[in-house]
Amino acid sequence: MQEISRIPKTATAAAPAGAAPKVGFVSLGCPKALVDSENILTQLRAEGYETAKSYEGADLVIVNTCGFIDAAVQESLDAIGEALAANGKVIVTGCLGAKKDAAGDDMIKKVHPKVLAVTGPHALGEVMAEVHHHLPKPHEPFLDLLPPQGVKLTPKHYAYLKISEGCNHRCSFCIIPSMRGDLVSRPIGELMLEAENLFKSGVKELLVISQDTSAYGVDVKFRSGFWNGRPIKTHMTQLTEALGQLAKQYGAWVRLHYVYPYPHVDQVIPLMGDGHVLPYLDIPMQHAHPDVLKRMKRPASGEKNLDRILAWRAMNPDLTIRSTFIAGFPGETEAEFEYLLDFLKEAQIDRLGCFAYSPVEGATANLLDNPVPEEVREERRGRVMLLQEEISRQRLQAKVGKTVRVLIDELTPSGAVGRSAADAPEIDGVVYVKKPYEPHKKLAVGQFVDVEITRADAHDLWGDS
Ligand code: SF4
Repeated sequence: MQEISRIPKTATAAAPAGAAPKVGFVSLGCPKALVDSENILTQLRAEGYETAKSYEGADLVIVNTCGFIDAAVQESLDAIGEALAANGKVIVTGCLGAKKDAAGDDMIKKVHPKVLAVTGPHALGEVMAEVHHHLPKPHEPFLDLLPPQGVKLTPKHYAYLKISEGCNHRCSFCIIPSMRGDLVSRPIGELMLEAENLFKSGVKELLVISQDTSAYGVDVKFRSGFWNGRPIKTHMTQLTEALGQLAKQYGAWVRLHYVYPYPHVDQVIPLMGDGHVLPYLDIPMQHAHPDVLKRMKRPASGEKNLDRILAWRAMNPDLTIRSTFIAGFPGETEAEFEYLLDFLKEAQIDRLGCFAYSPVEGATANLLDNPVPEEVREERRGRVMLLQEEISRQRLQAKVGKTVRVLIDELTPSGAVGRSAADAPEIDGVVYVKKPYEPHKKLAVGQFVDVEITRADAHDLWGDS
């Protein structure tokens, strides 16, 4: 029997008794790599996996590599070869996993094409995702009371996927960064695994949320993570594409929230073509006048939002745009406010929320000159909502006679209430679906139905399935 010679002490500690799956572990490299190994081993043990002392006794082997100097690269490649020859099921992680050869190809995959998966360093989530994929988790009666998708407060058929925490911006009306800190993106492999678990559990609509979805990956310089053994960039576009592909496998939808109109959002619009990434963007614009946006210190305030919106609609005429605005921000003149109204007339935002500015304790906007009196703030909010009501009425009226796909949220005595691609839960309108005439046709929560729209008001639609 071939012993795993490079296995660290922690991995050989006595494992719990029972027929749990066994993982062999080879740890190479510097102390940072060693800590990564410890974290992976801790997680393995926490999930009930045992560690194996020999390649033959393992159900799968993880090799944590070093890619620093040539000798270390060679040692890592040899260790992978040894594990492949003796065991056959090998997941590779660590610095060498992120290394490319002179031709730009993945070095490990080139030398050892039979490895199951390769991740870079500091990739606990991705490594665990690969372990779960190739060696399913042992049943643990207490932990397994938790479903793989975790505890969710949403109905079974939709769920939120939080892709990052914190924010790098410092909008003058907002105190979120002081509470939650700068942007920290979650590893992409971990997100994909969570999304897969959610789809497997019956989720039909996945709502991507964060403080700034477009900035996903900025904090880690868009480094590559791994999903299903393939490298994938920690970037909004790649994440959206991968989620869309996954959603397609499960016949589900992906909806994007809190998208700032950075230039790369243009690349996301074509991903909305096949209906799995919904043609829907929630873009919190807050204002349209450049001076107000400057005082608000808004991200992407230099972008030409109107031009962008028109260009996106030209690419995908079904695109629904949701946004929020603030009326009566400190210093907002009547002319600046009317500029906002003109923008709204042109942009024809589908779904809009408007708040009268309200000073949040600790926000720097409170120190700005010329605060707008409360009654003026409220009056301006009312004017925005009145305008929006007419825009929304017209846009929804244009859907009468069309057939739209609806996800059923709730059954009612007269039929069901659902949402189309244009309606996010809780914040947008709904589609009231009449009970089908044919007795064999049944409506169910979490089901998609095609609904012919017969009526609309300024918020909701009505139709027959
Ligand atoms: S409002 Fe501005 S600072 Fe606050 S979370 Fe959003 S982008 Fe970040």
